[in-house]
Amino acid sequence: MIIVFKPQAQKKDIQRVLDKVEKLGLQTHISQGENTLVVGLVGDTTRVDPKRIEVEESVERIMKVSEPYKLANRAFHPEDSVIDVSGVKVGSKELTLIAGPCSVESKEQLLEVAHRVKESGANLLRGGAYKPRTSPYSFQGMGSSALDLLVKAKEETGLPIVSELMSEKHIEEFNDKVDLVQIGARNMQNFDLLKEVGERIKKPVLLKRGLSNTYEEWLMSAEYIMAHGNPNVILCERGIRTFETYTRNTLDLQAIPVLKRLTHLPIIIDPSHAGGKWWLVEPMAKASVVAGCDGLMIEVHNDPESALCDGPQSLKPDRYDDLIKKIRKLEKAL
Ligand code: PEP
Ligand code: MN
Repeated sequence: MIIVFKPQAQKKDIQRVLDKVEKLGLQTHISQGENTLVVGLVGDTTRVDPKRIEVEESVERIMKVSEPYKLANRAFHPEDSVIDVSGVKVGSKELTLIAGPCSVESKEQLLEVAHRVKESGANLLRGGAYKPRTSPYSFQGMGSSALDLLVKAKEETGLPIVSELMSEKHIEEFNDKVDLVQIGARNMQNFDLLKEVGERIKKPVLLKRGLSNTYEEWLMSAEYIMAHGNPNVILCERGIRTFETYTRNTLDLQAIPVLKRLTHLPIIIDPSHAGGKWWLVEPMAKASVVAGCDGLMIEVHNDPESALCDGPQSLKPDRYDDLIKKIRKLEKAL
């Protein structure tokens, strides 16, 4: 349920309404727009009689929200959320460019890629330390030492870092070292992890869409994190499973306009995991920018042929540079 106050409403009248609903055991989430104050009610709203709120002088209208997600709902927060990732404003007018290898493999590899993507204009550096691999025999990531290398790369380039958290065991380490904490597709519905992330992660969270999840399920996962105390969630579409097997996944471009309508949270597109092929990255990145995404996350490797993870979908630094030049032109044209 949402209360929209009149633009000229007095503070004390607004407070009286808030006291009324808080007495019913509901939480209030306040969103102050340019002219209007919107207050979302979270909890068991069946206890609220809308007529008792509507009669208040300060209230413009009261609306029921039928979607099960509240905090992530655009109705609760009509303006776009801008999430600050160590100074990078995700969801602002400027496109967020996240780039880097799938996995951190060595100091040389990471530093080379970090410097190159920085020169091309990336504003966040990605790199996996703990990897969710389908096979237990595949490279599992360098773990903690990879996070130290990412910190070193950040010191050298100034790029804040993004890495995937797979287990609550590593929460403290991620709070210390990582600027944007990724929750991968396979953990999108790991509800225990989402609760821990909401309560204990002090950094913004990049929540990837699950392999076969609907928009509503995805937004409910964002809701878990937000309801447990961390409001700074960024969504990332990374392709979904369809009947097509030629590509690794199918990029759901419709997610951009649909999510812009349903939620105020920013949306980043990952064309690398979507197509699974490096030559699909450019056309899909361009299409995503045209469709209105807030940023791109792209895998870049200095030597994709010998990459330990996701080589076939990784761009070489020169190709990434070329792509960003084209994206800049596209932005101007738009
Ligand atoms: C990744 O970003 O390297 C990754 C494993 O992504 P996803 O969870 O989307 O598969
Ligand atoms: Mn990857």
